[in-house]
Amino acid sequence: MNILIIYAHPEPKSFNGALKDLAVSELTSLGHHVKVSDLYTMNFKAVAGREDFIELQNDKFFKYAVEQKNAVKTKGFSKDIEEEQEKLLWADFVIFQFPLWWYSVPAILKGWFDRVFASGFIYSGDMRYDTGGLKGRKAMLSITTGSPKHAYTPFGMDGDIHEKILYHINHGMLYFSGMEPVEPFIAWTPSHDEEDRQMYLERYKERLNRLTEIPSIRYHSSTNYGPDHQLKDKYR
Ligand SMILES: Cc1cc2nc3c(=O)[nH]c(=O)nc-3n(C[C@H](O)[C@H](O)[C@H](O)COP(=O)(O)OP(=O)(O)OC[C@H]3O[C@@H](n4cnc5c(N)ncnc54)[C@H](O)[C@@H]3O)c2cc1C
Repeated sequence: MNILIIYAHPEPKSFNGALKDLAVSELTSLGHHVKVSDLYTMNFKAVAGREDFIELQNDKFFKYAVEQKNAVKTKGFSKDIEEEQEKLLWADFVIFQFPLWWYSVPAILKGWFDRVFASGFIYSGDMRYDTGGLKGRKAMLSITTGSPKHAYTPFGMDGDIHEKILYHINHGMLYFSGMEPVEPFIAWTPSHDEEDRQMYLERYKERLNRLTEIPSIRYHSSTNYGPDHQLKDKYR
């Protein structure tokens, strides 16, 4: 498979760095083709703006999604965006490696989504979710946390990790783009205990060896919703 790793951590010696390095070596030794977008090393621009386009369709009133749509047609994205989009089209499987920051992705990765997951490329009026532009690809979040596992349960202090914390990424970004998100890999509180860290590295290695067997997260097909954007009664 062609596997793309989107990696967002500012410190190469971090535990996130160790998980990314492990993925590169393990997946390569399994015969996969691996590319890494190391966003901090690339100094990836996180803030969307006018300079993301070679030419503006309307420079009197700047509307980001309209310019994105135009850039898809004219091949008019800045080079950094174009390169990331090409990597996505090349990939069969995308791994997102990052620490959970404020219940979400670090800003540099949020900016990557804003700029790379462009209107007209990833989505349009009738192209989203199971008809999104990246259909046919799988994606997996590989994250680390500061809070422990029991804080991320339905009655835990931080809320259910799947339904409350990661839903906006897995459903709102990955599934929205057409990709099929699989169960995330989570290393809980890796800063506390060396024994835990070794266990997580071992578990991650096992997971990388069976990437194609990881269960997908089940979301409704877009046809299960009516024109009012509500889930049809028979699917409730
Ligand atoms: C802005 C911000 C917001 C945050 N928001 C949240 C939040 O909303 N929810 C939450 O739960 N947490 C939050 N956190 C905490 C954050 O998620 C954790 O600090 C982070 O996930 C820990 O991962 P790390 O890679 O940064 O760990 P590091 O601290 O870099 O690494 C942990 C330890 O692993 C060691 N290590 C590195 N490589 C290896 C190796 N190969 N083998 C063994 N050990 C190794 C390192 O030396 C280090 O001692 C936040 C932190 C910040 C800065």
